[in-house]
Order: sequence, then C-alpha cells, then structure tokens
Amino acid sequence: MTRSNPDDKNGKMPSYFNLPPLDVSLAFPQATPASTFPPCASDYFQYDDLLKPEEKAIRLKVRACMEKEIAPIMTKYWEKAEFPFHAIPKLAELGISGGTIKGYGCPGLSITGSAIATAEVARVDASCSTFILVHSSLAMLTIALCGSEAQKQKYLPSLAQLKTIACWALTEPDYGSDASALKTIATKVEGGWILEGQKRWIGNSTFADLLVIFARNTSTNQINGYIVKKDAPGLTVTKIENKIGLRIVQNGDIVMKKVFVPDEDRIEGVNSFQDTNKVLAVSRVMVAWQPIGISMGIYDMCHRYLKERKQFGAPLAAFQINQQKLVQMLSNVQAMILVGWRLCKLYESGKMTPGHASLGKSWITLRARETAALGRELLGGNGILSDFLVAKAFCDLEPIYTYEGTYEINTLVTGREVTGFASFKPATQRSKM
Ligand SMILES: Cc1cc2nc3c(=O)[nH]c(=O)nc-3n(C[C@H](O)[C@H](O)[C@H](O)COP(=O)(O)OP(=O)(O)OC[C@H]3O[C@@H](n4cnc5c(N)ncnc54)[C@H](O)[C@@H]3O)c2cc1C
Repeated sequence: MTRSNPDDKNGKMPSYFNLPPLDVSLAFPQATPASTFPPCASDYFQYDDLLKPEEKAIRLKVRACMEKEIAPIMTKYWEKAEFPFHAIPKLAELGISGGTIKGYGCPGLSITGSAIATAEVARVDASCSTFILVHSSLAMLTIALCGSEAQKQKYLPSLAQLKTIACWALTEPDYGSDASALKTIATKVEGGWILEGQKRWIGNSTFADLLVIFARNTSTNQINGYIVKKDAPGLTVTKIENKIGLRIVQNGDIVMKKVFVPDEDRIEGVNSFQDTNKVLAVSRVMVAWQPIGISMGIYDMCHRYLKERKQFGAPLAAFQINQQKLVQMLSNVQAMILVGWRLCKLYESGKMTPGHASLGKSWITLRARETAALGRELLGGNGILSDFLVAKAFCDLEPIYTYEGTYEINTLVTGREVTGFASFKPATQRSKM
C-alpha cells in the first residue's frame, strides 16, 4: 500500500517505504513458524498401536512428504489462493489417490489406512487433503462403485497416478443441503445426452480433466451421473474468489449449455439420489478424518509454540491457563481419533449406517472447531497469522463444517435414524419415515 507521509516536506517517501515484509522468522525469532513443521505430539494415547504395520507405514510416508514438500510452501499458496501444481507429482508418489479402490492401478488401502493418510495430509494442509478427497473419495469412487467396466479401465489408472484430475459436481446455486432436488437436466438424444444447468462450489473444477456431473434424467425424473470432459463444447468453469478457508482448493461455478455427453460416459450405476449416497457414505468417513488431522496439526503447533515463546520470564507453557487449554485440545484429539477409528471398523465390518457416518463427521468437526479456537487463543497475535498454521487451520475448518452435509444436516440424518422421524422439511411438510 502506498501512502503520503505528512512529515515529509519535499513529498519524497522515506527509504523504508514499500519494502517487502520481514521474513517471519526474522520478525519473530522466538518461535518457529509452520514452514518447519512441528513434530507430532498429539498421539498421546498411542493410537498408533491400533494400526496394522502397513497403515503405520503409510502414515509415516505421508507425514514425511507433507512436512518436507508442502509445509514450506503452503502459506504462500494459501495467501495467493493458488494451487501448487508443481507439487502434484510428489502427492502422486504417495500412492494414496484412489484410496480403498482395488485394481485399476489404485492402491486398495484399508479404510483405516486411507483415513490415516487423509489425516496426515490434513495435519499439514487441509486444502491438499480436500483436493485429494474430492478427486479420490468422490469422483474416483463414483466411477469405481457405479461406473462400467470400460469406464473403470479407461479412467481410473491415470486418475490414481494424478496424471488426470477429477471433480465431483452435485451442489447447485439453488440446491445445497436440498441437493436431491437439483435442477440440472440430462435429455436423451441419439448417441448420448444433452446436459443443461449450473453447479456451484465444485472443488478442483477449474482445472479438472474429468467432471463427474449429476443431472436429472428428463424421462425418469431420477438423478443420473455423467463424466464430462474439460474441453466439452458448452461447458464453462470459473473460479470462486474471496474464500476465507481452503484457499488453495480451486472451487468453481460450472455452467453447462447444451453439453453433449456420449452414451459411453453416462455412469450406468447412478440411477437415483440413493446411488450418490452410497459414495457419500464412504467419503463422509474420510471427511471426518480431515478435522482429526487438522486438530492434530493445531495441537502439535501449539505444543511447540508454548515451549518456545516466553512472557513474564517463563515459557507460555508454564502458565496454568495455557496448560488447561492445551490439555483440553489434547483430550479433544484423543476422543476424535477414537470416534474416527471406530467409524472405520464399523465400515469394515459392514455395520456402519448413514447415521454413524453423519454423527462421526458432525461431532468431530464440532470438536475440531473448538480445538482451533483454543489454539488460536494460545498463539496470541500469531494466532491470526497463517504462517503459524493455526489461523489457516481455523479458517479451513469452516468449509469442512459445511460441506459433505452441514453440521445441522448430518445431525438430522442421525436424528432420523435414532428416532424414526425425518425432520428435514418444515414441520407442516413432515411425515413419519
Ligand atoms: C469450500 C467448499 C467446497 C465444496 N465442494 C463441493 C464439491 O466439490 N462438490 C459439491 O457438489 N459440493 C461442494 N460444496 C457444497 C457443499 O456441499 C454445500 O455448501 C453444502 O451442502 C451446504 O449447502 P449450502 O451451502 O447451499 O447451504 P444451505 O443448504 O443454504 O444451508 C444454509 C444453512 O441452513 C441450514 N439448513 C438447510 N436446510 C436445513 C434443514 N432442513 N434443517 C435445518 N437446517 C437446515 C444448513 O445447515 C446451513 O446452516 C462445497 C462447499 C464449500 C463451501
């Protein structure tokens, strides 16, 4: 910002005007910024013991990569709201894209292994974990669960290697929580379908090679799924600007005007909204592990900061009120991990219900928000700087609180399951389930 200096009689600026900011490590030498990521101190109850050797191995591999490759650059990209495309090969090397999908070049991880990998990515940078989740647990999983054999063979191998990127478009400007009422239409024509409509908030969509789009079949009035290519005539995607969270994620507005999709790109297993719910059930488990990872990172950062930073002649860690906050954060993380881990086990044994997944996602996100708020207090002024992670994580939790079902909608999913009453519609429209 330029400004005039009232003390400068000649109208000349002092030599220090418009200098670049001091590097944060010079400006604030007492505590280490998150570009050098803190060691993990948040596994207090040693939940690592619950993991199989291969799950522990993936955790350490992802952690090392995120701390080395992403931590040093994340603040810059978050501030610029740009995606670090050069980091994609490093993320690809982790071999986590495709998560639990078996075959077709996908890693075939256990659900717990995939969840742990998600948490380790999110511990360092929530945006990177959202990038992978949208691509992997939403778009790839839709193709794996509902696509034809030919689609799986054609699309999954390069998606698993992050050579091509996908997005998953359900939400529309007028239909967010009420997504099952969406209005984008698909009309059958010779050799394919014509898509017409609009989508909003779609992560990765500004650069995705493949767009998984949900639209209402004009013949059946049911929701169908389609794979749209990025260069399809009639398709435009524009970036949503001015987000306060997940700023590295490129969310887009998609407009489709008479977009032709050949028959071979209709996802044959998506024939109703219930089919999208099959995908959401799995991805909600993964999304629940994002706030776990974010909270681990926040705790780890605060744990180091309180020991480095001194006030009144003592480390901040020596003050009782700070210890109380830190321990509250730690206990949140321990409880969150246990709920997340149990969700994975329920899923593995085939016992997980939609209500379980919704309760896990909503409750964990609530505790993460509390953890972030406490962490933000502990860091004082640096609690509002993205350089020290906590402010960035604090903001990143806000969209996670809202996407894949808001806190309220997920609460109502669980509420419906435990009471037998659906309560999504205003009281006058409600009926017993
Ligand atoms: C950063 C970001 C990334 C996203 N990525 C994707 C993506 O990749 N693909 C995609 O398809 N979508 C994506 N979304 C969309 C996301 O899923 C929606 O924002 C979410 O479903 C909520 O919809 P809405 O924002 O329209 O809120 P609304 O539905 O307008 O809700 C507003 C408020 O009203 C409450 N509310 C609504 N209905 C009820 C009810 N029946 N009872 C009680 N309370 C209610 C909500 O809980 C909320 O508090 C993303 C969103 C964000 C912010």
